[in-house]
Amino acid sequence: MGTLQHQRLLRLLDQLKLRRVIELYEGVAEEAGKKDWTYVDYLEKLLEAEAALRQERTVIMKMQMARFPFQKTLDQFEFSFQPSLDRKLVKSLSTLKFVEERENVLLLGPPGVGKTHLAIALGLEAIKAGYPVYFATAADLMASLERAQAKGQLEARMRNLLKPKLLVIDELGYLPLEPWEASQFFQLVSARYEKGSILLTSNKSYGEWGEIFPDAVMAAAILDRLLHHSTTVNIKGESYRLKGKRKAGLVNLSAEAMDKAAQPSAAS
Ligand code: ADP
Ligand code: MG
Repeated sequence: MGTLQHQRLLRLLDQLKLRRVIELYEGVAEEAGKKDWTYVDYLEKLLEAEAALRQERTVIMKMQMARFPFQKTLDQFEFSFQPSLDRKLVKSLSTLKFVEERENVLLLGPPGVGKTHLAIALGLEAIKAGYPVYFATAADLMASLERAQAKGQLEARMRNLLKPKLLVIDELGYLPLEPWEASQFFQLVSARYEKGSILLTSNKSYGEWGEIFPDAVMAAAILDRLLHHSTTVNIKGESYRLKGKRKAGLVNLSAEAMDKAAQPSAAS
């Protein structure tokens, strides 16, 4: 191709921001020649590549907006390590029907069983499917609401928390909520009710939620809204963090032994 035409093409592609086409069009043209592609095949190939690049960029941008603390995927999750976890249930959650239908997901279990990992991985799937996602720990969420309140921007902050189609709230229950925090949490859950999904993780079973909130009535009201359209995933296994350590003999108690130690009065 003449250099002048090449330069004109580059200008046009640049103007149209077709970055991937700029990189690829000559190579793909050569390939098209060799493989006897039609003009339409050629066009499709280039546009496919351009669309793929845009999709990748959108995912990266949305991942930054989501503020995941680390990156994890479902592929990286060893289901064999966590036999109590219903693999089919997690698979069905990964179809994101729950996000589409504005339902909630609650991942419950002790520390280290992969709650945050699964929350991030499902969040990532949601982003890939085009949904805006926001991740925060319950503690960070509360701190951000308190800062907003101090600046007189509480309403705006609340409105922002209604925007993502999927709001991930990690680690509810490690710290009990103060009355003001609990009432804000209630507001948030009520405002998102049937409007947008919440994916919540907690180390506390529902029976223990009275300990998270100032009183049982509030805990019940929050649970009522959260659970109305929801899926609960209970993970009962042992901590993945101790996996290597146990192998190395640094932790010499078996899971059963630890369970027994925790319940010394259990009937023998
Ligand atoms: P939790 O939030 O339940 O306390 P995390 O999700 O933070 O636990 O898991 C702790 C660490 O162990 C993370 O690095 C996570 O990626 C990893 N992990 C936990 N469970 C699994 C698993 N079944 N397969 C692979 N990695 C796991
Ligand atoms: Mg966690």
